[in-house]
Amino acid sequence: MDIVVCVKQVPDTNEVKIDPEEGTLIREGVPSIINPEDRHGIEEAIKLKEEYGGKVTVISMGPPQAEEVLKEALAMGVDEAILVSDRAFAGSDTWVTAYTITEAIKNLDGFDLIFCGRQAIDGDTAQVGPQIAENLGIPQVTYATDLNIEGKEVEVKRQLEDGYSIIETELPLLVTVLDDINDPRYPSIKGIVDAYRKQEIEVWGADDLKLDESRLGLDASPTKVHKTFVPTHEKKGEILEGDPKEQAKELINKLKEEKVV
Ligand SMILES: Cc1cc2nc3c(=O)[nH]c(=O)nc-3n(C[C@H](O)[C@H](O)[C@H](O)COP(=O)(O)OP(=O)(O)OC[C@H]3O[C@@H](n4cnc5c(N)ncnc54)[C@H](O)[C@@H]3O)c2cc1C
Repeated sequence: MDIVVCVKQVPDTNEVKIDPEEGTLIREGVPSIINPEDRHGIEEAIKLKEEYGGKVTVISMGPPQAEEVLKEALAMGVDEAILVSDRAFAGSDTWVTAYTITEAIKNLDGFDLIFCGRQAIDGDTAQVGPQIAENLGIPQVTYATDLNIEGKEVEVKRQLEDGYSIIETELPLLVTVLDDINDPRYPSIKGIVDAYRKQEIEVWGADDLKLDESRLGLDASPTKVHKTFVPTHEKKGEILEGDPKEQAKELINKLKEEKVV
């Protein structure tokens, strides 16, 4: 079974810095990690390869330093790593990111299954996985917490707010995973040594993929950030004191004044 895992390098913090002029993410100077849910995608792919054979390929679109997350994926046990990188990709929104990654996937020798994380902790849109599936014209199941494969048939447990549903579908398929799906393994020492000493990362740019220039980067991105801001909290907390019965009455009066009750 040939499996692709889309892996994004993200800042190691939930506090994404944003350029106030451009409204774009500032990545320079921020320590980076594999997007946490993408590690679970890697783990699921390696587990399936161990069970059914085949090959796991990780793809990341990003600047040259995104090689670091690909090296980590190689150290965990994936077979191939591809960095999709070109200055022409700078400023891509989710639409253009998904187009570019889709074209990279089409450039592979084929695939049965694609894993993405449910969402990236910086951009947080959860759009890229579903957009790739749409571009490729294959089924998708999002929010996966379990997966069973029998031949071409796939059964996916999909998390809902108040329960779960079981989706039956077929390969080829794209699945976005939640962290409940598995416990990612740590890279072994041998895995780390091999990843850094022996395994190469292929780099594919716009020309390698014969991409349409008019569909790349910031200019082709239909989503424009008009304003970014940190919400302010103007209301202050108030502590009621004195006799608890009186406090309760005062609280109820205040809630009535605010029309909460
Ligand atoms: C309005 C807007 C404007 C933006 N402008 C810029 C900009 O100017 N410059 C800039 O650098 N970024 C910009 N971004 C961020 C950029 O769009 C995102 O980094 C990218 O499109 C992925 O979106 P996301 O982070 O929401 O991923 P999600 O859709 O939340 O990611 C879901 C999954 O898709 C896969 N995935 C996502 N991105 C990648 C990737 N790059 N490589 C491999 N797999 C991936 C991963 O498996 C991930 O878990 C912008 C985002 C928005 C919403």
